[in-house]
Amino acid sequence: MSTTYNFCAGPAMIPQAVMQKAQSELLDWNGLGTSVMEISHRSKEFIALTDQAEVDLRELMSIPSNYHLLFMHGGGRGQFSAVVNNFLGDKGKALYLISGSWSKAAAEEAVKLTSDEQIERLNIVENNNCINTVVMPQLSGNNDEYRYLHYCPNETVDGIEIFEDIDCPWPIIADMSSNIMSREIDVSKYGLIYAGAQKNIGPSGLSIVIVRDDMLRLPALPQSSIMDYRLGVKHGSMYNTPPTFAWYLAAEVFTWLKSIGGVNALAQVNLDKAKLLYDFIDSSDFYHNTVAVKNRSVMNVTFYLKDETLNAEFLAEAAEAGLVALKGHRSVGGMRASIYNAMPLEGVVSLVSFMDKFASSER
Ligand code: PMP
Repeated sequence: MSTTYNFCAGPAMIPQAVMQKAQSELLDWNGLGTSVMEISHRSKEFIALTDQAEVDLRELMSIPSNYHLLFMHGGGRGQFSAVVNNFLGDKGKALYLISGSWSKAAAEEAVKLTSDEQIERLNIVENNNCINTVVMPQLSGNNDEYRYLHYCPNETVDGIEIFEDIDCPWPIIADMSSNIMSREIDVSKYGLIYAGAQKNIGPSGLSIVIVRDDMLRLPALPQSSIMDYRLGVKHGSMYNTPPTFAWYLAAEVFTWLKSIGGVNALAQVNLDKAKLLYDFIDSSDFYHNTVAVKNRSVMNVTFYLKDETLNAEFLAEAAEAGLVALKGHRSVGGMRASIYNAMPLEGVVSLVSFMDKFASSER
């Protein structure tokens, strides 16, 4: 079988070692003679799995003890509404930094659930000569002006990443769906971090929430019980039946990540992968990228062919070469190579070599 490298933005590649392990124990997990999908989430075996997953994730991300960890339903968008319903009450205000498609969508959902007066939006991307740059404003004011500031440090669609820490007097909520565990971060700087699982954690259907204890004292709106953080904490993420198979695979991804040296070791590989691709794009007059160097995403590398009439040909030939799902998001066009934690360096080497060949082939 020839190697296929999958550059999909999500659901995305899962480490091959994890898939092989899952395959080998699909019908008989833990000697139970049944699949992990078919056992009770309250069985002692499954609880042991979830306990270990929590220990591993805490270790991988150095999560302080005053933070709760939740494994929830509803993906990334589920959290767009959960943060509003859990923290805003009927009067609270929130500030949303807009740096691309996903932060914009989060703000729109927040307005839908509250009102325009409660949600303030601040665009932080400047476009000069077709290059997008994040310009972080001075963020100061009364501590109680906003219940939280929401932002998205990695915009999956636009290929924009924010590497600087945000300095502000309000709790920070970060949508890390597409860059969680891609590099080390200081969790203690955040009121809450959330991420849909289908990029760096495992399969879709699961989302992870890391929430500081004091955030749970903010007034909540009436809401669905399964998205209520307080109930989730009280019931160990098992107020209702959780997505158990996704949780199991996530636990295996954590084990894999630990086995290869943890987040810090992988962060270096991620930088190497991204540098290889961006350097090639910059050195070429056939391809180009539209993000300022300081904000180029390490996880989602967007690029355009100078001659866009060749897009379909590029994608077809790439797929033939085993390089799949390179089409950019429909809202921005062009190409996008999502190179999450599970993408090996060889995948990017292969891509660069294909792009070089495609650019120099006669047509
Ligand atoms: N936030 C970000 C940064 C994302 O990339 C995505 C999905 N690509 C979402 C939120 C939405 O996630 P979901 O489809 O799981 O709701």
